[in-house]
Amino acid sequence: MADEARGVGPLRKRMGGAMPEDINSENKEEIKTLLLEASRLGFEVGYLGQVEEFGWVKNRFKIIELHADNLGILEELRKKYDLSKDLGKKRRAQTAHSDEENKPEKTPTLELEQMPNTLHIKSSGEKGSGFDGAMRISPEEGISAVANVLKVSENSHWVTRQLDLAFSGIADLHDMLGRISQEGTPEAILTEGLEKLKLTGWISDYAIEEVNAGLKTAKVSAVSAIPNQYGVSTIPVCISISLALESIGARAFKTPVQAMEKRCMCQGDEKCGFVISPR
Ligand SMILES: [Zn+2]
Repeated sequence: MADEARGVGPLRKRMGGAMPEDINSENKEEIKTLLLEASRLGFEVGYLGQVEEFGWVKNRFKIIELHADNLGILEELRKKYDLSKDLGKKRRAQTAHSDEENKPEKTPTLELEQMPNTLHIKSSGEKGSGFDGAMRISPEEGISAVANVLKVSENSHWVTRQLDLAFSGIADLHDMLGRISQEGTPEAILTEGLEKLKLTGWISDYAIEEVNAGLKTAKVSAVSAIPNQYGVSTIPVCISISLALESIGARAFKTPVQAMEKRCMCQGDEKCGFVISPR
């Protein structure tokens, strides 16, 4: 029963409740999640400045506060939020003058989380040489990373489920992309791939801004479905779209390519902007 309840999400389950809850292991998990969420939101607000005025930030914090109140941790949560907000402001001041290339390598939230000490991050050598050099990383790196995120999620039924869904969603997407044509102009193949992305709902609109068949480069803008759910971020978040564009671009240009998201709707842009170039 407890597992079942966790599976459907304790946050949602108690949306309407106003009675204080007993502290049990499920609540502990929820408290952890709430405090982390408050830290993250606080950091975003501090780092980005004015976003506290955004309706969605207010609404999100209101919901978090309501849950915290039910769990009797409102005070603690507000402290966490304020501390993280200050941390965000400080980070902002440190990086205010840095340009695109000099952005901090770590995402802000990484600093707020404790890496479990059971993790053993292997850094193995060469990229995979199989598939005509088309692999992005070495198989060992991929395997090790999958093991690590599974390890991180082992105490949370919810996170495990999200990972499961994320892996499955991305696998489905790439199955679909595997069926696009190998023949045709780069632009035609890019269009076919982007149509597939649209069909699956990962994007709702797109434009091919530029294609250079000789240099094997392209610029694509798209309305990604991810930012709508994610909210504000200081860095682009549409990694799954970038990876899809690499698969599509490799077919279009007949060579391994990389796709970088240069600007993201999470950063306040109207569309996410991607650049495809040979790897
Ligand atoms: Zn994006």
